[in-house]
Amino acid sequence: MKSCDLLIRNGRVMPMVEPGQVLEGASVAVVGQRIQAVGPEAEQYRSQNVIDATGRAVLPGLVNAHCHAPMTLFRGLANDRALMDWLQNYIFPAEAAEVDQELVRWGSRLACLEMIQAGITTVADMYYFESTVAEEFAAAGLRGVLGQALVDFPVPDARSFEEGVANVRAFARDWKGHHLITPAVAPHAPYTVSEAHLRESRRLADELELPLMTHLAETRTETEQTARDHQGLSPTAYLESIGFFGPRTLAAHVVWADEADIARLARAGVGVAHCPHSNMKLASGVAPVLALLRAGVAVGLGTDGPASNNDLDPWQELQTAIFLQKVTALDPTALPAGQALQMATSLGARAVSLGHEVGTLEAGKRADLIIVSLDGAHQLPVYDLASTLAYTTRASDVRTVVIDGRVVMEERQVVSVHLEGLLDRVADYADRIRKRVLH
Ligand SMILES: [Zn+2]
Repeated sequence: MKSCDLLIRNGRVMPMVEPGQVLEGASVAVVGQRIQAVGPEAEQYRSQNVIDATGRAVLPGLVNAHCHAPMTLFRGLANDRALMDWLQNYIFPAEAAEVDQELVRWGSRLACLEMIQAGITTVADMYYFESTVAEEFAAAGLRGVLGQALVDFPVPDARSFEEGVANVRAFARDWKGHHLITPAVAPHAPYTVSEAHLRESRRLADELELPLMTHLAETRTETEQTARDHQGLSPTAYLESIGFFGPRTLAAHVVWADEADIARLARAGVGVAHCPHSNMKLASGVAPVLALLRAGVAVGLGTDGPASNNDLDPWQELQTAIFLQKVTALDPTALPAGQALQMATSLGARAVSLGHEVGTLEAGKRADLIIVSLDGAHQLPVYDLASTLAYTTRASDVRTVVIDGRVVMEERQVVSVHLEGLLDRVADYADRIRKRVLH
């Protein structure tokens, strides 16, 4: 027998390498931060740390491909409004008045707790003070591709675009190479960042060798405005025309994309974060997920920020994504459970440029995995594991979460997030924001 640091035994293991593959009664052996063996090969290992996964599913940790973690503190603020009204009259003013490093810290901590409880192990995030988000993610043991936001107008952590660039450089200097954190460049959107600054963002990402992420083609308004401002181009065609696309690029939403746009994204290898709840709540439209997948685009699932969702629950996104594609295509065979689970794991990992490290359970990959109970009344009986996971499983069914070989939640107890004072601070912020924004 060989020894390992952590052994998960006798689970219903879904490695997410082959579609639909389930290894029954299988083990996963972890050494240090990485998976050493999966399935029959893992049976040769013993460990001081054994987790019995009998009757439970073991799968790769879920990837949240688009989030604004600190916005938990704006959750439920000004619902039922149009995107531009919501942004310009509520969210941007609240952010301008209230967002500082402390708010980002507490909001991120709340988000880390919620996401770990839901079985999310990797998050692509973008916000201000992203180095503080990074501190919270690292402390919580949560993996992040974290984008320092860039916009043209003054924001809480930068009076100008140039100051934002300086923030990106400092962020990259401090965090590049961290085992959990990948710093990224995050120009907010083609309608809040000028052409020159979008070009500069690309150059910065190339120079610092960082991923590049943005919001793209979210609403019809954005599409119309881009056409007016840029010779009739769609948002996707516009970004392609200025050389914005390149290695390790992630676009959130991509609701308003036609076949030509989809071909552009596929050609450039751009990953897409599909955010069905956000798109539905803000009435942005239905992203062409089936066509994107057919074209070979890596499409992951994102919650978007908690202000436009209103939660960070990947299981609900998974279910909604499936239903939304079926009803839009008027095709009940569209986006089957197994493919949707890939979006939440392996495809999501590829979308956020971490496909080589996470997203599947394979020897050599980072040990990011979740153990999910299958005995809830809402889950029984289990005829097909992928269907049970995709259609009926809830965040509260996630029992144990391992990230980078570290058990961060064990039997629903999150052990990595510092909870002291958290609820009081959240209540304090809510009082302040309520007074300022809602009068
Ligand atoms: Zn967003």
